[in-house]
Amino acid sequence: MNTVDYLRISLIDRCNFRCQYCMPEGTELDYILRQELLAHEELLTLLREVFIPVGFRKFRLTGGEPLLRPGVVDLVRAIASFPETQDLAMTTNAFLLAGMAQDLYDAGLRRINISLDSLAPETFDKIIGNRGRSRWQQTWDGIQAAHRVGFDPLKLNIVVIPRVNDQEVLDLAALTIERQWHVRFIEFMPIGNPELFGERAWVPSEELRQRICQAFGLMESHVRGNGPADVFQIPNAKGTLGFISQMSECFCDRCNRMRLSADGWLRPCLLNETGQIDLKTALRSGVNLADLREQVRELLLLKPEINYKQRDSGTAGTYTRTMSQIGG
Ligand code: SAM
Ligand code: SF4
Repeated sequence: MNTVDYLRISLIDRCNFRCQYCMPEGTELDYILRQELLAHEELLTLLREVFIPVGFRKFRLTGGEPLLRPGVVDLVRAIASFPETQDLAMTTNAFLLAGMAQDLYDAGLRRINISLDSLAPETFDKIIGNRGRSRWQQTWDGIQAAHRVGFDPLKLNIVVIPRVNDQEVLDLAALTIERQWHVRFIEFMPIGNPELFGERAWVPSEELRQRICQAFGLMESHVRGNGPADVFQIPNAKGTLGFISQMSECFCDRCNRMRLSADGWLRPCLLNETGQIDLKTALRSGVNLADLREQVRELLLLKPEINYKQRDSGTAGTYTRTMSQIGG
């Protein structure tokens, strides 16, 4: 059985962007009330007393936009200081990163994934739902700051949507020729904006690989992540290209992760709501921590069945929460 030792932690469900594919403008979202968010001490207690004892060793901070979480640098420092922490990473839109990159690095964050869906400011602003002054440059400055500070590997995430940004795939792939960055193309999923999904659908990774191969050549990379990306490389490029193909491939059998929402729900499978545990309510009601550990251990045992059930039944999965709410 695959070892599940990776926890994606959503720090907040709010965001300063309104990406078309994630939380488009105009959608009504029930934000988590402040008092319902896991407090820092509660999160650290869960990590120290529950997740680490049952075997979790790798943590990613995400959201919503994790840099909006007050005290995020202190949280990074605390999680990085657990002797058991083997890996601590963050996924961010980088809009606030330029001023925070050094502090995050000094606090112990070493890996960062940044969403950047377009190199063209106009397209970028359209995707993130921005109507005021362009936000592209500040985001790019955040990426440059992360690079200067020394985050390694620095990964860029791109959700590819037909006729929105798929025309830029070659330009985005070309970023890896001179930079030691990892550019990852993600298949658009019907979470967050099913209408856009219905209208535009998604581009299979295989099609992207063919386009990139025709333009630059493409070979499988010897670099392997521990995630779901298939890794390739343009010949002689300094960086790599990753393809995350959750629509065209099933990688449930490689799944090594669970997700903790900002209001303390532990979710064993992104695409299936079965089996979730409300850890925050349990913690606040004074439950014995040994009992919580036991519940999480049981969920770990059930996870393969939960992963596969959704695929086997051929259902579309349960998407009552967006990626920003689940912790993408
Ligand atoms: N705000 C941060 C960011 O954008 O990087 C972190 C949270 S965001 C929910 C995490 C990841 O989920 C991003 O890389 C984003 O592109 C991805 N995502 C959100 N909605 C998606 C969808 N419908 N299909 C595929 N990926 C999606
Ligand atoms: Fe915000 Fe990230 Fe969702 Fe975009 S993908 S709206 S940046 S949470």
